[in-house]
Amino acid sequence: MSIQAPEYVRQIAPYQAGKPISELAREYGLQVERIVKLASNENPLGMPESAKRAMAAELAELGRYPDSNGFELKAAIAARYRVPPDWITLGNGSNDVLEIAAHALVQAGQSIVYSQYSFAVYALATQGVGARAIVVPARNYGHDLKAMRAAIEPDTRLVFIANPNNPTGTFVPAAEVAEFLASVPSNVVVVLDEAYTEYLEPADRFDSTEWVRQYPNLIVVRTFSKAYGLAGLRMGMGLAQPELTDLMNRVRQPFNVNSLAQAAAIAALGDEEFLRRSYEINRAGLQRMQAAFAEMGVEYLPSYGNFVLVRVGDAAAVYESLLHDAVIVRPVGGYGLPEWLRVSVGLPEENETFLAAFKRALGR
Ligand SMILES: *Cc1c(COP(=O)(O)O)cnc(C)c1O
Repeated sequence: MSIQAPEYVRQIAPYQAGKPISELAREYGLQVERIVKLASNENPLGMPESAKRAMAAELAELGRYPDSNGFELKAAIAARYRVPPDWITLGNGSNDVLEIAAHALVQAGQSIVYSQYSFAVYALATQGVGARAIVVPARNYGHDLKAMRAAIEPDTRLVFIANPNNPTGTFVPAAEVAEFLASVPSNVVVVLDEAYTEYLEPADRFDSTEWVRQYPNLIVVRTFSKAYGLAGLRMGMGLAQPELTDLMNRVRQPFNVNSLAQAAAIAALGDEEFLRRSYEINRAGLQRMQAAFAEMGVEYLPSYGNFVLVRVGDAAAVYESLLHDAVIVRPVGGYGLPEWLRVSVGLPEENETFLAAFKRALGR
């Protein structure tokens, strides 16, 4: 007898992660130290020292389960973002929060709205609950919020928005998001995924927790994987009013955020110096990369994140060529962008290594 699985599960195309450094080293016989990975939008500074120390202090306690309700971590988040603790849903990475939202709110057959070229996990979360995806065509590679509003159907339960978006790096200004939120029916939940919000320039910033105060149908999602430098620990969160938070915590796995991640996140939240350096090294690297692409006459999308999408034509060939030069970037053919590569911003010397290899790959 063959294994029975729902058709919507069989149709899921597994998430394609950036190639790990160890895998490239194995496959191409390269030394690990030589390899530059600009493929997963990780923080090139690594993790904060403050978080390392907090984790070391936590090691002795690992024989016990973590605090399932994350009391201390929620208190730290509440203080840092000036929100009540009962607004917070902790996630094993923000991916977890996105899936928790779909599980808590959507039944098989109902619909979820998201944009073309938006984060791959929205499709996975949709398929994982057997929901129907309404994929709204992008405008200039970014979210078309008016079209997304118009695409909402009576059975739509969730809308996913990434702002800034990955992999395109596009950004919708606060005024447009506010207009969208005001126009969405109150029975449709909006997930506003702000994984890159710490990288926005001061002029573009806004306080989305004010919208959470205003809208009971909004979940703001944040991550510790990017500017906070804790991608390997898996730590993210959702901020929503208590009714929605309560629903999400019913389907959240107990102990979904481990003790080390909780300790590290508390330390990282208090480490404003690390956050400031993350922002500054990213600003400088982004400007350097975009200026180099402009000078080379290569098309790119001006980015609001910690990565740039660049149009190279035969992306598979350029990707391969870069791998031979020990540089890992991210192909985005799976997003329907077969001519583009996504390059994360690295340390200054990593950016230079990439740019030199990139010029060779393009025959410049
Ligand atoms: C990187 C990223 C995340 C973060 O994922 P984690 O699970 O927190 O590591 C979430 N949303 C978007 C759009 C991202 O690019």
